[in-house]
This record gives sequence, C-alpha cells and structure tokens, in this order.
Amino acid sequence: MPSTTIAQALAQAQAAGLARIDAQMLLLHVLDRPSHDRAWLLMHDGDAMDEGALARWHALCARRAGGEPVAYLTGRKEFFGLPLQVDARVLDPRPDTETLVEWALELLAPCPAPRVADLGTGSGAIALAIQQQRPDARVLAVDASAGALAVARANALRLGLPVQCVQGDWLAGLAGPFDAIVSNPPYIPAADPHLAALTHEPLSALASGADGLQDIRNIIAQAPATLAPGGWLLLEHGWDQAQAVQALLRAAGFDQVQSRMDLAGIARCSGGSMPVGLSPTVK
Ligand code: GLN
Repeated sequence: MPSTTIAQALAQAQAAGLARIDAQMLLLHVLDRPSHDRAWLLMHDGDAMDEGALARWHALCARRAGGEPVAYLTGRKEFFGLPLQVDARVLDPRPDTETLVEWALELLAPCPAPRVADLGTGSGAIALAIQQQRPDARVLAVDASAGALAVARANALRLGLPVQCVQGDWLAGLAGPFDAIVSNPPYIPAADPHLAALTHEPLSALASGADGLQDIRNIIAQAPATLAPGGWLLLEHGWDQAQAVQALLRAAGFDQVQSRMDLAGIARCSGGSMPVGLSPTVK
C-alpha cells in the first residue's frame, strides 16, 4: 500500500467534508503535537504517516463526520486562553461565551475581592476564566450534573485555580450575597431543529422548555435574593432572545438592563443590576 503523506491525509479529510481547521486539529492530536502548532503541519506536509497514526486518524475523522465535537475527540478546548479538558459530560465551550466573561470582568473591575457564582458551569470554563483573571475573587461553580462537576473540579485542580465546585439546582440553597451571578444556561427551544446537530452534547446543557427560556426564568426568579445591592446578573442566551430576556429582567426589578454582542455581532448576553438601597423582598 502506498504511504499517505500529511498533505494527502488533510486533503482526503477535507474531500470527505471536514472543515480544514478541524482536520488540522485532529491531525495534530494524532501526531502528538500541540494544538497551536498548525505551522508544523505545513512544514512536514511531505512526511509519510505511520500505520498506527493513520488508523487513529481515520477513526477520528469518521467520528467528526458523525458530528462529534473536535473538543471531545481531542479531549481539550482552549477557552479565554485556558487549556480545559472536556468530554461528553459537558457542553463544548464556545468562543461566544468569552463575551460573558469579558463583561463580568469589566463590571467586577472596581470591586475588591468579589464574590461570583457561575451557574451551570459545565467544564468550569466561565468560573475558571474569571478566577484566573481575578485571583482575589471567591468564585463558586454550580452544576446540577455530578459528571459535569467532576470535569470542572479536575480542570480547577489541574490549572491550580481555587474555584469552589458545588452540586446544586441553580441558586437553591446558596446564601450569597454575590457581586455577580453569571450563567450560560441551556436556552435552545426543545423542538428547535438546531438540536439535531448537537446530539453528542448533553441535552440538559442545551434545551430548556418550549421557548428555550425556562431555565433563564428560574435563574432570574432566584437571583435577587442572593445578589448584593448593585450586584449584576449576566446571562448568555440564544441569538433571538435578547428582548425576551431583557423583559424578564425588567419585570423582576433589575436596573441597567442591557445586552452585549458576541464576535459575530449577535446580542448574545443580557444582564442587569440589583437596585441599590432596596432590599430584594421590597422590590
Ligand atoms: N450556543 C450553543 C449553540 O447554540 C448553545 C449553548 C447553550 O444552550 N447554552 O450551539
């Protein structure tokens, strides 16, 4: 059998429908090269692949073609510059979610030793990114899934970040007060055809009731009792949900309700602050 070179392997994967970047990431993984080393592939494009690497590569390409996220196949995903370990117990962290982290960091900048809760933490991406940028923060990472929390805990330990991971149902049982509550909850409507493309990720991290807003409603209902006066609730949501989430925040008595755009220019996060000087029970 003629040997296959790196350039041929990549061309075959793209001909089979894989995105170029996905094929490159998988090939680097198979060849035990760091994921940022795409230049290495170019410099070695005439190298022949050995049979073992080729077999592993074909298996990974087939799984990718079947819809598995690259992050699950390599076990890694970079988020906000942090190398996270991920697997099918957690949502594959999206770059869109960095918008939420940046917003939280801006709001927390004037606040010494802020207390932060990340609800539905999954891999721990948001909580760990905030903790890394703000070593003085006390960050709590909450998830209902024991499997997800195991992933978040392992990431915290490996990265040496003192995020506290607790199992729970959004804010139930948490005392606060928090200076910021942040969340990338499930927000896809249960009957949305988009879900069909995401079957490898946990449905509990993606879908939320008929209109996709069920978990967001629950969080907005619970947040005022645990936010400090002037504290912020920031929520990621779907591309067409900004108005609905803003309306829910206003109806719950939040001030300064506004949205932030992701890199694609989509209003991807909405948030508001707790009125200062009014206790949550009065509002
Ligand atoms: N942004 C993801 C998607 O639409 C969904 C993430 C979520 O539900 N929190 O693919």
